[in-house]
Amino acid sequence: MPDTKSFHMSPEEFRRQGYAVIDWIADYFARVEDFPVLSRASPGEIRSQLPQAAPQAGEAFETILGDVERVILPGITHWQSPNFYAYFPANASGPAILGDLLSSGLGVQGMLWSTSPACTELETQVLDWLVPMLGLPERFLSSGSGGGVIHDSASSAVLCALLAGRERATQFHSNRHGCDGRLIAYCSTQTHSSVEKAAKIAGIGAENLRQIEVDENFAMRPQALARQIAADEAAGLTPFFVCATVGTTSSNAIDPVRALARVCRQSNLWLHVDAAMCGTAALCPEFRSLHDGVEFADSYCFNPHKWMFTNFDCDCFYVADRKHLIQTLSVLPEYLRNQATESGAVIDYRDWQVPLGRRFRALKLWFVIRHYGIEGLRHHVREHVRLAQEFAGWVRNDERFELAAPAPLNLVCFRLRQGDAANQALLNALNASGDLYLTHTKLDGKLTLRLCVGQTNTEARHVQAAWRRVLEETARLAG
Ligand SMILES: *Cc1c(COP(=O)(O)O)cnc(C)c1O
Repeated sequence: MPDTKSFHMSPEEFRRQGYAVIDWIADYFARVEDFPVLSRASPGEIRSQLPQAAPQAGEAFETILGDVERVILPGITHWQSPNFYAYFPANASGPAILGDLLSSGLGVQGMLWSTSPACTELETQVLDWLVPMLGLPERFLSSGSGGGVIHDSASSAVLCALLAGRERATQFHSNRHGCDGRLIAYCSTQTHSSVEKAAKIAGIGAENLRQIEVDENFAMRPQALARQIAADEAAGLTPFFVCATVGTTSSNAIDPVRALARVCRQSNLWLHVDAAMCGTAALCPEFRSLHDGVEFADSYCFNPHKWMFTNFDCDCFYVADRKHLIQTLSVLPEYLRNQATESGAVIDYRDWQVPLGRRFRALKLWFVIRHYGIEGLRHHVREHVRLAQEFAGWVRNDERFELAAPAPLNLVCFRLRQGDAANQALLNALNASGDLYLTHTKLDGKLTLRLCVGQTNTEARHVQAAWRRVLEETARLAG
């Protein structure tokens, strides 16, 4: 007798529970403002409510979903609350979530063109769409020498850029024989920590990553970079890589890409431009100057999963010349050989990233771009910038406060003039209230509050309420 017993979810039950999950998510969005934005769970609290061991017998789906409500929700920090202003946004939208769900339903692996041609071709096309949408150089188009690929994160993108730069600088010697410890990479004191992590992973070593000083606006000083490169060359070292940032995480500082590119070209260094959050702003012609000089970059990335309504994970990574990246990361074991690859007529994205397997992430990005249209995306980005600028204006006009950095776009760095203790107390009080969530940074050695406007549903009334809460807590702490 064949064993016909099955524990699988039947297609009928999948349909029914699927509707229930979509209903749950829609209801969640409707009540998200009712929860404290920052989870109040204490360490171990969520885990203590979970059984010691996995269930022996399967459980009803209703029970599982009920536990999401009962056990999981109290341990959620609500990134999709319009009152979330912490870190940088990781925003989402209906079309993106549904595109991601479809990707799960199709469940394809897109490592090779032949493992799902649509997965590769849609990705290539959507990344080509974004080149003129963001005013990026034509060199990044797949029809030229370059091309784009979706990575999970900006961290992965900078790692791949660093690896390709390493190989270009050593004529692929370091991939064959290993690094010699003489390669030197550069970023600024304000650069995201992912560059240091990449230097560690790539075998460059954190000691060989130079943090260049910044100016009064926290942007990298090209002259200081040039001086450090010259000093390293004179010491017999091999400078090979620079990471410039368009919109630093700490203060939204914008490095002078054009001037940095000039320095890079003199010594033939790989220039990577990290525009993780702020690249999205370039959708609007009035913010295009952000990308000034990017035409001289060897690689570039921005994250639609931060500010372009595409839920995590979705980082768009472009290279000006794909052959360095591919030659750096390509391996071809027998079991992956196929006619399409041999023909050279297709892209195999496994050669553009660290892992082999890859999800069909282009679907959600395609859904977002088609749902909103360029016009819709621009509208919401402009609105976020406008609201942040309004908040910055309120800070400027209140003598108890100061702006700690220029606020070029959607991030406002501000603080009480009274010093760190007062600012820490204000931050703690605001976050404990549950009404909103802000995080901090240090600028010029001083504790600074950061308010980043970028959640999909943040409107004027939310930002007004945020400022009102800042004023209320400031008065209470002073009283
Ligand atoms: C958020 C951010 C990163 C890291 O992004 P991941 O996609 O989470 O790796 C890197 N650089 C900048 C400038 C960022 O804002």
